[in-house]
Amino acid sequence: MKLVLVTIAFCLGFPFLSLVSQSSETKLNVLDRKAYEFSIQKTPNKELINLEKKIPGILLDIKYATPDNFTKQIIYKEAKAYARKPVAEALGEAQKEFSKLGYSIKIFDAYRPYAATVKFFEIIGDTRYVASPKTGSRHNKGCAIDLSLVDLKTKQTIPMPTEYDSFRKEAWAEAPVSDPEILKNRTLLISILAKYGFRVNKTEWWHYDFSGCSGFEVLDIPFEDLE
Ligand SMILES: [Zn+2]
Repeated sequence: MKLVLVTIAFCLGFPFLSLVSQSSETKLNVLDRKAYEFSIQKTPNKELINLEKKIPGILLDIKYATPDNFTKQIIYKEAKAYARKPVAEALGEAQKEFSKLGYSIKIFDAYRPYAATVKFFEIIGDTRYVASPKTGSRHNKGCAIDLSLVDLKTKQTIPMPTEYDSFRKEAWAEAPVSDPEILKNRTLLISILAKYGFRVNKTEWWHYDFSGCSGFEVLDIPFEDLE
């Protein structure tokens, strides 16, 4: 049947051929704004929440809205942080606990539109460091957060094993750390977030996947279309 269709496509010309090739591949289900709005009518838990508005005191340092990131390019037009509703709620609980200890969460990246993942792959082209556009990233689902902690007294980011988005081995969540203060900071971050359902990424001390995210789709909606 496929052969017949392809043969017909060749006879009829290019537009029909492209239709055939699209339907014969398994495509990643990427929701645009309309499809997303439909999905949250059915499942309100899927709503993307503005973390700055939802979580008191939370700080943003959205690196992809600046050239200060591994691509050296501005990827986002706006410095915003969104996550799905259950993720935002759990992060809010973690923030309460951190603030009692004298810290605040500082977010480097949260929900990431799928177009940005495609761009990262065009620039780096290596799935050891960036997500494949074939699968998308948990960030694209609004289910992953990149973050660190700020000391509320000094207003400074507390020392961690590496800078954000470092490709070095020291960035691994269980990499040996000789400085006791840095080890204490990393342990605090990982252990408190784990209590609220966030699992640290093996190769990135700053990246946390939320556990309650099954069935959430990859989204491709720029921040400016979310307000
Ligand atoms: Zn991440």
